[in-house]
Amino acid sequence: MGIVGAGQLGRMLALAAYPLGIHSLFLDRSADAPGAQVAPIIVGDLEDPRKLQELARRCDVVTFDWENISGNALAPLEDIASLRPSRAALTVSQDRISEKALFERLRIPVTPHAPVDSKAQLRRAVRELGAPGILKTRRLGYDGKGQFPLSGAQSVDAAWQRLGGVGLIYEKFQDFSREISIIGARSAAGKIVVYPLSCNTHGNGVLRYGIAPFANARLERTARAYLKRVLDAVNYVGVLAIEFFVVAGRLVANEMAPRVHNSGHWTIEGCATSQFQNHVRAICDLPLGSTRALGHTAMINFLGKMPDRGALLAIEGLSLHDYGKQPRPGRKVGHCTILRKHPGERNQALRRALKLVEWR
Ligand code: AMP
Repeated sequence: MGIVGAGQLGRMLALAAYPLGIHSLFLDRSADAPGAQVAPIIVGDLEDPRKLQELARRCDVVTFDWENISGNALAPLEDIASLRPSRAALTVSQDRISEKALFERLRIPVTPHAPVDSKAQLRRAVRELGAPGILKTRRLGYDGKGQFPLSGAQSVDAAWQRLGGVGLIYEKFQDFSREISIIGARSAAGKIVVYPLSCNTHGNGVLRYGIAPFANARLERTARAYLKRVLDAVNYVGVLAIEFFVVAGRLVANEMAPRVHNSGHWTIEGCATSQFQNHVRAICDLPLGSTRALGHTAMINFLGKMPDRGALLAIEGLSLHDYGKQPRPGRKVGHCTILRKHPGERNQALRRALKLVEWR
C-alpha cells in the first residue's frame, strides 16, 4: 500500500495494515515524518511526478493521508497502480464551493454561502447573507487555517486584507448546539459500513476532544443517509468523513474529508474494526469489518506538546498515541482514547484526563 503523505494518519494506516500482512511505503518531504518511523519512505515532494511514479510502481494500491495533493499530479499514477479513493472524490472535496455544490445536489443541507473573488463581492455577500459570518479560503484550509470571522460590514476591509487574492467563500455563522461527525467506509463493490456518531469539541477551529458513540437515533439516521448518498454518488472506495453542525436540531453539513479523520481516532480502541483498518480493507478489496462500538469512548487531541504519560496512563481504560513529532505550538502531536463500559465512568475519566492536557 502506497501512502502519499506520512503524517499521523498515514502512520496509523500503516500500523493497521501490518496485522493484515500488508506492507506500506510512504512518500513524504520529511525523512522523519511520523509514518517514516513505522514503514519505509521515499523522500520527495508529494507532487513530484517521478517520486509518485516510483511509489506507484512499487505498490499495488495507492492512497493518501493528505487531501490537498493536486488531482493532476496524481493522474499518471492511475496507469500504474489503483488510486483509492479516486481523483474525482479527492478533487470535489478540495474546493469548499464544489463540495457544497455536491451536498446541495444530494439534498444535504449546507451553510448559506457565496463565492467571493473581490472585495465588492464580499460586501454584497455580507449584505445579502447577513453577519456574523466567516470568510474562508476555498482551497487548502484545514483546522481553522485560512479563515477570518466577520462581525459585520465594518470587518470587510480587514478580512479582505488578510485573505484577499485567492478564491474565497463567505459563510453565514452557524449558531450550532453541537458539532458531530459521521465516518464510513465503502468497498469497490458498493458495500458500506458506518461508525456511530462522534460529538466533537473544537477550539480555534481545531478538534480538541470528542465523545462517541453520541447517542441520538434521529441525527444518526439522517447522518448515515447523507453519508451513504455521498459515498454512492462519487463511487467512493475507502473511508470518508462528514462533519456537521447541529442547528436547531437539524444537521447542516460543514465539510467532508476523503480519508480517515481525526474524529474517528476513537475507533482504534473503541470499535470492533478501526477506521484505519476499514480503509485498508476497502482499498485492498478485503471484506469490511464490523463498526460495532465496544463501549463508551472519549478521544483527546494533544496539541503543541505531549502531556505527562505516566499521569495519563494511570487512568483506567486510557490508551496513548504519540505520533513521534517534535513539539511545536498548535501541532497535533498525539492523542489518547478512553474506553469505558458506562458513559458516567467515561465522563469521569475524561474530566480527569482533560486536567492533564494543556493545548498550546
Ligand atoms: P472548518 O475548517 O470549516 O472545519 O472550520 C473549523 C471549525 O470552525 C469548525 O469545526 C467550527 O467550529 C468553526 N466553523 C467553521 N465554519 C463555521 C460556520 N459557518 N459557523 C460557525 N462555526 C464555524
